[in-house]
This record gives sequence, C-alpha cells and structure tokens, in this order.
Amino acid sequence: MGHDPYRALYIHVPFCVSHCAYCDFTTCAMEAGAPVIDEYFEQLISRIRELSRAGELAHIETVYIGGGTPTHAGAKNLASLLYALGVSMRLSPEVECSVEANPESLTERLVNDMWALGANRLSIGVQSFDDDVLRTLGRAHDGKDAHRAIAIAQGRFDNVSIDLMCGVPGQTPKSFEQDVRTAIDLGVAHISIYPLTIEEHTLFARMVRAGQLEEPDEDVQADMMEASARLLRQAGYERYEVASYAREGYQSRHNTAYWSGVPYVGVGTSATTMTQNAQRRMRVQDGQVVDDLDAVEMAAEDMMLAMRMARGVSFAEVERAALLLPRLNAVLDRACAQGLIVREDGRFKPTEWGWLCGNELYGALLDSATL
Ligand code: SF4
Repeated sequence: MGHDPYRALYIHVPFCVSHCAYCDFTTCAMEAGAPVIDEYFEQLISRIRELSRAGELAHIETVYIGGGTPTHAGAKNLASLLYALGVSMRLSPEVECSVEANPESLTERLVNDMWALGANRLSIGVQSFDDDVLRTLGRAHDGKDAHRAIAIAQGRFDNVSIDLMCGVPGQTPKSFEQDVRTAIDLGVAHISIYPLTIEEHTLFARMVRAGQLEEPDEDVQADMMEASARLLRQAGYERYEVASYAREGYQSRHNTAYWSGVPYVGVGTSATTMTQNAQRRMRVQDGQVVDDLDAVEMAAEDMMLAMRMARGVSFAEVERAALLLPRLNAVLDRACAQGLIVREDGRFKPTEWGWLCGNELYGALLDSATL
C-alpha cells in the first residue's frame, strides 16, 4: 500500500552475554566474537542499504539500536553499522540516535567510536545498583559495573538514560529508593522505571509455577512507582510518560514517536515495522502481518497510546477523532468522572491514578472503536 514516510528506525540486535531470568525478548546468549554475530550485522547493513536505495530512510528523525545487547556485538560491528547508517541516511546531530548498552560490555573504546560515528544517546540497562537484586534478576553485571558504565558513558555523552526495575522479589522499598537516589546523584539525563512482570516462557515463570519464586506484589510495585515519581519530581525530572522521566530537553524522541502514531521501520529479527496511511495501519514482524487496523481502530489506538504520555490529547485532536469514534466523548467524560484523566490547558491528560489503573483507561479508549 502507498504509505506515509517512516520517521523512526529501529534496529534489533538479538544477542546477549547470557539470558536474564525474567527476559522474554528475542535474544540469545552468544559468546562475544562469535561469527554468527558478524554475519548478522552484514545482513543488517545490507537491509539498511536496501531501504536507503528505496528512499525509505529519507525522513527518519530518530534511530534506536536496541536488543538484546547491541554493545555485546563489539566495537567493529557497531562501528560498521553506524558507518552504514551515516552513508545511507541523514545522520545529522538533529537526528536522535540511541544505542542500548549493558554495563558489562560497555567500554571506553566503544563509547568513543559510537560518539564519533553519530550516536548521540546511550541507554544503559542498569536495572538496579543493588548486587542482591541484580543476582536475583540473573543480570551479567554488578553495581560496580553499572557505576563504571555510567561514568564512561557520561565522559562523552550528555544524553545518558538508564533503566531501573521495581518490584523484584527480595527488593525492599529502601533498596529501590536508593537506586533512584543513586541515579539522581549520578545526574543521568533520563530514567525509565518498569515494574517487573512475569512473562510466559521465562525462568521466572517456571520458578513461580514451581513455588520457588513469589509473584511480584502489584501494591508494592505501585508504592515503589509512586515513591520514584515523588523523588524524581523533587529532583527536577519531568515524568513525561508513564514509565519515563527526563531532565529538561532530554525526553526520548524515539519513544515519543512510538506513542504518537508515527510510522516506523524495523530492521532485524523480530523488529516491528509500522506502515500506515490515512486509511490503514499495519504492523509487520518477520514478514508476518501482526496487526491490521482500519481508520476507526487507528483513531482509537492513537487515543490510547497518547494517554501513556503526560501531555495526553488536545481537545482539537479529540474533536477530529470523534468524527470516527462517536462514543469517544462519552468515554472521556466517564474517565474524567473516575479520576483517570483530567481536563487541563485545553487537553485531556492522564492522572497518576489513571496510569496506575492503566489497563482500565487504555481498554476503555480502545473499546471506543467498537462501542
Ligand atoms: S540483557 Fe536485556 S535483552 Fe539480554 S537477556 Fe537480559 S533483559 Fe533480555
């Protein structure tokens, strides 16, 4: 189908040094330097050149190299990939170019090479600074590695993001709050905070079934999310998305694209491409269509995605969407009455309660397509 230009590019690197106990991402544990990693990067580069020749990268505004663990692929592969991007599309400083890194594989050489070749944002999978929590999660790094990686990253990049996790079995509120305080003290520009979820086909799921691991307590997780929101607000971070906090000027433009209905192209195993025009939105993964929405379903999905963001949706956007979703205004009125959203500055914005009851809020908006 004729489609709107892609504005975001995601590149997936499905290799890690080992497999974390909670992880259900598409990735496999692989020795660093394995020939299969080099071959995979050659394929990625071929695909990028192909997309470039077809004109599909001409409007890309954000690039995200994620995984897996891109930094596990080593300096040579990452440098080749970034070089190929530099000659295949406009990789100017205005283009946000993020690379995901894990503490155990981030080296000074890698940081310098990535910076020189156009990356301008590093996202480090820290999860915690507490060694006990990291051991429970089955992570390959310890707290010391996390500190070292952040210091190396900040030596070159001002835009450094870290992920933290809450509600891990054995993690106390004190330990989690200390993680948040450490992140603040280190001055990272962006912090993402996720509650642990037990996904099917993971070691954690098997341990829960065998009675060896307690399921995360949702109330404890909600308390931790609230505590982090408070600490980060006091430290000057803005919560611009349900799980994302940024110092001024450091909101992730790539993640924002995902929540704003911006078309994106994915490269690599299991990477999703979202192709759309005014009538249709399709998501394709490994050559299979995994989602096919008409204009009505798209409008409902856009409303739902927008409520992940603190800015919510403008009255004008709602008015336009309501032409396709006649019940939308009633759904929003009800959500206001339930305290899930508020009317503020000409917009409907999610409340903290709305985010805590996210499934209810997002579900109601998606249902507006079928009511
Ligand atoms: S490092 Fe990330 S992608 Fe790799 S196994 Fe752990 S959680 Fe999964």
